[in-house]
Amino acid sequence: MFGLPAVKPDVHGGKLLPPERYGVKIMSMAFFLSDNEPVIWRGPLLGRAIEQFLGDVFWGSPHYLLVDLPPGTGDIALTLAQMIPAAEMIIVTTPQEAASTIAVKAAKMAQKTEHSLLGVIENMAYFVCPQCETKHYIFGQGGASEIARITGARLLGSVPLDEKTRQSGDRGEPVAQDPASPVGAAFREIAAAIDAE
Ligand SMILES: [Zn+2]
Repeated sequence: MFGLPAVKPDVHGGKLLPPERYGVKIMSMAFFLSDNEPVIWRGPLLGRAIEQFLGDVFWGSPHYLLVDLPPGTGDIALTLAQMIPAAEMIIVTTPQEAASTIAVKAAKMAQKTEHSLLGVIENMAYFVCPQCETKHYIFGQGGASEIARITGARLLGSVPLDEKTRQSGDRGEPVAQDPASPVGAAFREIAAAIDAE
């Protein structure tokens, strides 16, 4: 999605050098796997990979370290919670009930491990129809505000469903870069809300 080639990062002084794009340093499992190979690692191996991504990558002094996790409350989320006690969690959900149930579980785990919840982001919140220009709530409505209500976290913002997201991603240019796009605007509002915390 950042348009980076899937090549192994360089190593310098025993540290992995993360490639940088759009001012973001990136480290991904995808750099170490060959094409179309699934990640089938389990608990201990995954834990070690996370340790390496945190400890053996030359991050410098970033303002933010974002870790994109798979849904739910699996091993990785727990390992991270233990390794970065000061980490704050952002719940990303879609509006329908099945997604918000999983998200509430993750939020409760964060609270059990004494991590603060920075907020909730609603993805695929609605689709603005190019024909009639009305908002279509394809996945329903209200899931994210319900999570916010249950957990006491704030709703950081809603990202509409837009084919530009996919098109930009395929081109390796994040849609957030595009000032004219409603999705880009949503991303910038969310970033500003996080930055204001
Ligand atoms: Zn329509």
